[in-house]
Amino acid sequence: MIGITILGSTGSIGISTLDVLSRHPDKYNVVALTANSNAQLLFEQCLQFKPDYAVLVDKSTAEKFKELLASTNLKIELLTGAAALEQVASLSEVDYVMAAIVGAAGLLSSMAAARSGKRVLLANKESLVMSGQLFMDEVKKHGAELLPIDSEHNAIFQSMPQDYHQGLERSGVSKILLTASGGPFRETPIEHLDHVTPEQACAHPNWDMGRKISVDSATMMNKGLEVIEACWLFNTDADKVQVVLHPQSVIHSMVQYVDGSVLAQLGRPDMRTPIAHALSWPQRIESGVEPLDIFAIARLDFVEPDFQRFPCLRLAYEAMHQGGTAPAILNAANEVAVESFLNNELSFMRIAEVIERTMNSIETGFAETVEQILDADRLARECATKLVSLNAS
Ligand code: NAD
Ligand code: MG
Repeated sequence: MIGITILGSTGSIGISTLDVLSRHPDKYNVVALTANSNAQLLFEQCLQFKPDYAVLVDKSTAEKFKELLASTNLKIELLTGAAALEQVASLSEVDYVMAAIVGAAGLLSSMAAARSGKRVLLANKESLVMSGQLFMDEVKKHGAELLPIDSEHNAIFQSMPQDYHQGLERSGVSKILLTASGGPFRETPIEHLDHVTPEQACAHPNWDMGRKISVDSATMMNKGLEVIEACWLFNTDADKVQVVLHPQSVIHSMVQYVDGSVLAQLGRPDMRTPIAHALSWPQRIESGVEPLDIFAIARLDFVEPDFQRFPCLRLAYEAMHQGGTAPAILNAANEVAVESFLNNELSFMRIAEVIERTMNSIETGFAETVEQILDADRLARECATKLVSLNAS
């Protein structure tokens, strides 16, 4: 049996992961489940999967969980506080860690999984954006296995040659074609974008996801973060990563080779496919996803992205070119701006403005240690928070 910790089990990716695991009780044993504060759902998941550990980061919700647990005869150790995430990511009985916490809050636990040499199923793209070089170095140093859960990166991984670690040029890859749906506002007149609501931004045409990544998809910062994620995962430069608007979300990304071949992975927009792939790689297991009906799709469209409409995409390329802590600053400012937008404190169009002004205000430094990265994250958050409150007053 393979022991698994799921960081962020109550979120969209966490729930999909448990759905896949429930289809293979003979293969995987859930060792730990974690949530920020949703004690009720965490408890229900514990009833079904009987882990040894449950983590609630928010200590104030622990009483509720303990009360619920007391009515059962389950033996589950409840841990609280953020440090417990690192603890359950590093347990010796854990083989695989699903890193599915949203945002910078997932950095230390994703890193702990890498440092403990686990198979890391990485959904938490923000941690790689923040700490790219350091994260990849830790993976190598500790013999961890990094498998991408992000659907595009999982598709790229599946379309890459086996020896891609030697460098894309040496293995005959000329370009990565990173597909993007364009989100809910792909065709909305730009002058209407200033008045869109959080509900409209979270109504993604193809994917059902958490609120933060849904807003990121609407601004296309999600694709910007994914460009950076692809550079680190596949050891390449941002100019080798071409974003392609593909509104049907059937092709999840492609790899172009020097001989003219283009390999792609296709599928339904259902995260259980990349999750099942990463859980079972190099084998295949059933995921519960319906087969793709190629005749029902009938056509596939591809369009170049419009950087005017999606300034966040430009900012992400700029951050990657700057290097050092620039991507961590971009990410932190984005998290603050998105949270403010979701709380109706910032308009949709101002998200990019807050990020750009934060990037211009905070000096880029080295990103060689976790401390340097977390410092940049803190400074950028302070700056972006100030910019939002200036904007609101
Ligand atoms: P979500 O908001 O649905 O879930 C987030 C999870 O993280 C929850 O379990 C929550 O309890 C936990 N969490 C939130 N804040 C926390 C904190 N401060 N400390 C500890 N835990 C905390 O998010 P999601 O959509 O599942 O996305 C998770 C990650 O996966 C993100 O990095 C996202 O970019 C990535 N991702 C998601 C999808 C998708 O389809 N949802 C696709 C690709 C990548
Ligand atoms: Mg994605």
